[in-house]
Amino acid sequence: MRATSPLLALVHQDCAGHQPIWGHPERPERLAAAREGARRAGAREAEIDIDDVRALAAVARVHHPDLAPRLASACRGTTPATFDCADNSISAGTYNAALGAVRATLAGVDALLAGQARCAWVGARPPGHHALHRRAMGFCFFNNAAIAAEELRARGAASVAVVDFDVHHGNGTQDHFFARSDVFFLSVHRYPFYPGSGAGDEIGGGEGRGFTRNYPLAAGAGDDIYVAAVEAGLEDVMRVTRPDAWVVSAGFDAHVADPLGGMNVSSNGFERIGKLIASAAAGKPILAVLEGGYQVSALTESVHAFLSGLVGSGRA
Ligand SMILES: [Zn+2]
Repeated sequence: MRATSPLLALVHQDCAGHQPIWGHPERPERLAAAREGARRAGAREAEIDIDDVRALAAVARVHHPDLAPRLASACRGTTPATFDCADNSISAGTYNAALGAVRATLAGVDALLAGQARCAWVGARPPGHHALHRRAMGFCFFNNAAIAAEELRARGAASVAVVDFDVHHGNGTQDHFFARSDVFFLSVHRYPFYPGSGAGDEIGGGEGRGFTRNYPLAAGAGDDIYVAAVEAGLEDVMRVTRPDAWVVSAGFDAHVADPLGGMNVSSNGFERIGKLIASAAAGKPILAVLEGGYQVSALTESVHAFLSGLVGSGRA
């Protein structure tokens, strides 16, 4: 065991128990594939010891009090079902999986704030960035990235940046922080595309004006375009704030092999993105949560590459 590893991985066993209907792209194999990528990047796996009460309190900072009990109740049904939208197929284990992802996220924040690592990666499944205040959406149930940012704020970070490079716009996260200046939201994504939001003129409102930044990219973007957009976005962040902590919605569905994304990013592109984020963070804690990425071997390779870039280890 390498106690000095700069990178921790947090994976909750319940996250494999969410089993959408056969043929759904957000399938349990994704978790093992992503976890293998983290292992190859040298991540040390940490224990997750977060109880229900704390996990649900963290969910309640971001979501309507109705959402968690409604999901728990729906998962007790006996027939295959969807929840809130046709994309969100659920199984008996979905609620525990969604809560397991929140547990892993909170354990990651704890580890960072205890100085156990500089970067923590959360194998969050189901993903979270489309989840809205009152409604699940786009394979997402609880918004892990928003929950992480709120936890960091509650624990003393005056300013937090959320960087979302999933190929889909992180509409749930943007909505949650849209009117706030304490959490900067940056998203680089394909546009127009699901879920429809994320135009360049969505820049935040009220006190939050200037604290949301979107880089909408045309279909087919490869490494240079995608990485340049992340780089420009990070410069935008640094122009208005100096984050005490960083949350990354790390989705890998912009990969050229992804069946959903329609982009041409390579694993090398994700490594470059990791390096850029590490450079912007300048030693401040970074929590990366898994979002999309639906081709399993590309997911392993992409997680490996991104995390190697983040911790500056390079890939063998
Ligand atoms: Zn996505």
